[in-house]
Amino acid sequence: MEQAVMVEPDLRLVDQLMSLGAGDVKKCFQCATCTAVCKLSTAENGFPRKQMLLAQWGLKERLVEDPGPWLCFYCGECSKDCLRKANPGETMMALRRYLTTQYDWTGLSRLMYRSAAWELGILGLVASVVVLLFTLPRGFGFGLLNQAGPQALRSVMLDKFAPVETVHLADTMLALLLGFFLLTNAARMFRRLTRNDGIPLATYLRRLPTLALQLFTQSRWKGCQADDAIKNWVRHLALASGYMLMFTLVVIFLPWFQVQNDSLHWTSYLGYYATGVLVAGSGWMILDRARQRGEMYRFSHLSDWLFPALLLLTAATGILVNLLRVENLPMPTYVMYTIHLAVAAPMLVVEVPFGKWAHLLYRPVAIYVDAVRKDALAARG
Ligand code: SF4
Ligand code: SF4
Repeated sequence: MEQAVMVEPDLRLVDQLMSLGAGDVKKCFQCATCTAVCKLSTAENGFPRKQMLLAQWGLKERLVEDPGPWLCFYCGECSKDCLRKANPGETMMALRRYLTTQYDWTGLSRLMYRSAAWELGILGLVASVVVLLFTLPRGFGFGLLNQAGPQALRSVMLDKFAPVETVHLADTMLALLLGFFLLTNAARMFRRLTRNDGIPLATYLRRLPTLALQLFTQSRWKGCQADDAIKNWVRHLALASGYMLMFTLVVIFLPWFQVQNDSLHWTSYLGYYATGVLVAGSGWMILDRARQRGEMYRFSHLSDWLFPALLLLTAATGILVNLLRVENLPMPTYVMYTIHLAVAAPMLVVEVPFGKWAHLLYRPVAIYVDAVRKDALAARG
């Protein structure tokens, strides 16, 4: 006979969730209309009513082992139909922020999500390190003026100011660092979701294509019932493709991508595409959020602004570097290049593994685990 397990409620949980954006969670009285309304919710894994209950009861452990919050794509339809105005869609969003803080073993996510001062401070710290690397005297950093030499002050010589091998090495180290943090956090998430589930490894292996499909296409979004679901899906996908492409160009193909003249390499065309979708996609998202267009953008946490804002700034400063270089304005080019890296580096090192970006990995992992659980249930009859 199965032993009943006592679960200790965490009485601070509901307040923590409220501070992360679930301001109305206490209003829920469990009518379940939201679950009936949500097209993504299933008989095997119903949401968001269940998560509203777990949050109200302070059942933190049950929440951390639940893929449900990541199965929601925040269309906001359930919030429209909630008679109690408990905003279940927003609670699911706040839960994702909360879970991000729980998966992260460094504690940085927790600091960043709970305090704007910490989030801005950490981003500012990484940006300052980049600026110092370029402005400190030679021997301590790359050395802006002293290393470039007088010739590089007469015409733009980006490779003298920021030698491509040095920048490439720094990029690679950055990629390894953020990959390490992101993957170890995702591994913690996976372990919590699958702990003691008794599902055979073969079931997990058979379902790996689902993980790859969701990682590269985010196709589950299409199942959402909101009028603008397809638009949001395409925009999100385009933005993610621009981001991943730019990341690949900078980390792997920098020697060809960071050009010193006007010759066009094939990486340049990919760079134009990536820059275009980054500017258009992030700018459009910021505008929608500012106008609070649609349920999805009715509430905004600082983290919702920061990631698209940093993406837009990275792309815009990259365009400016190129324009100044073409105009042959040495010092403005070098200054803009430093600003460009001072925006891009914190976005990569801080926002990707510890902030909002991480949902691009967490969500496919949750969808994958949910699919494996369904397969296992079906196999048990
Ligand atoms: S969130 Fe609203 S719709 Fe959902 S169960 Fe609670 S009261 Fe009902
Ligand atoms: S916000 Fe949309 S996807 Fe999320 S639970 Fe509500 S109806 Fe479902």
